[in-house]
Amino acid sequence: MADGVKIEGMVFEAGSGFDGGSASAAPVGATDPSQRAVTPDLTEDDLALDRSLRPKRLGDYLGQTKIKESLAILIQAAQERGDVADHILFSGPPGLGKTTLAGIIANEMGVQIRITSGPAIEKPGDLAALLTNLQEGDVLFIDEIHRLSRQVEEVLYPALEDYALDIMIGKGPSAQSIRINLPRFTLVGATTRAGQITGPLRDRFGVLLKLELYSPDELSRIIQRSAGILDQPITPEGAYELAKCSRGTPRVANRFLKRVRDFATVLGDGIIDRDVSLMSLKRMDVDALGLDELDRSLLRAIIEMYNGGPVGLETLAAALGEEAVTLEDLCEPYLMQMGFLTRTPRGRCATRLAYEHLGLKAPETGSPEDNGQQSLF
Ligand code: ADP
Repeated sequence: MADGVKIEGMVFEAGSGFDGGSASAAPVGATDPSQRAVTPDLTEDDLALDRSLRPKRLGDYLGQTKIKESLAILIQAAQERGDVADHILFSGPPGLGKTTLAGIIANEMGVQIRITSGPAIEKPGDLAALLTNLQEGDVLFIDEIHRLSRQVEEVLYPALEDYALDIMIGKGPSAQSIRINLPRFTLVGATTRAGQITGPLRDRFGVLLKLELYSPDELSRIIQRSAGILDQPITPEGAYELAKCSRGTPRVANRFLKRVRDFATVLGDGIIDRDVSLMSLKRMDVDALGLDELDRSLLRAIIEMYNGGPVGLETLAAALGEEAVTLEDLCEPYLMQMGFLTRTPRGRCATRLAYEHLGLKAPETGSPEDNGQQSLF
């Protein structure tokens, strides 16, 4: 594609959404998610870093063992049959490695990858143009595939099942449908919202794989691998401190590494050890469990302004001067995973663990057996 962006064998289609995100109308003073050190979303700064750190082979991809095993079998089977790999759907929070895996599949199969995203394919014609430009065996990666429009999805169905496009020529009673054969290809879809994928689309994927958050040990290995590529000395303890605060997300871990590298160069002797990591995290306002100021103010608002909840998301967003979507997509998944926040039909509630983490006294309710995991109300 002449106007696509090329990153080491990956072709990002124009308007694919890989442009660091676009600004939308937000409350005055609202947090710019791309400025948060802990944001799992791809920011402009990450793009350059991604280029060098993205694993290219399955063997370099750390963690997600079950997914790697499934893919290894899938790739080997397709190669032995001399066929294309089945269509694959990855689901899971941002920054866990879905795009990376799509690139790895293409590399391992020895084919090209075309990268685009659901919102970038506005009309059926956009998708038709993409599909007819594929080479035999190519991987087509569609990020945020849950955001495809209905009409575009309908063009995709015969393409996935029969490698064909059905095109209507003419209008009214004389309209005719003609079928164009497409090269055989593998669709790799990625979504952060598996529940929003329509049934018919989901059924057309041969393999559904859900990525899980990474453990601190796995993230520590990812950080050490990245530091090696960047020629940055780091001790295992230094890597582990960063890993613990990376919210289970490799993108956050790599971003921390990049920022801490600057602190180590300017304030230390160039080596990232435990002390440098701890000092840097403090300067970035990230606490021992990976929460930043926005996460903490969200919890504090529920506790101090709404007695621990329940409080509706919109009310909370207005109280904090933030966008509801920022809180919902960028704070809540991790806070819920850590057991600090629960979503109930009546609104958001802070848990006993949230009180404890913020050093606040929790009200005397809830059974001692709830282990702090349940809401207090
Ligand atoms: P997603 O598509 O899920 O948002 P990406 O594939 O863009 O996530 O991954 C974000 C970054 O994290 C990539 O640049 C890559 O360097 C790194 N990364 C992700 N998963 C792994 C992994 N398993 N091992 C090493 N690095 C990884």
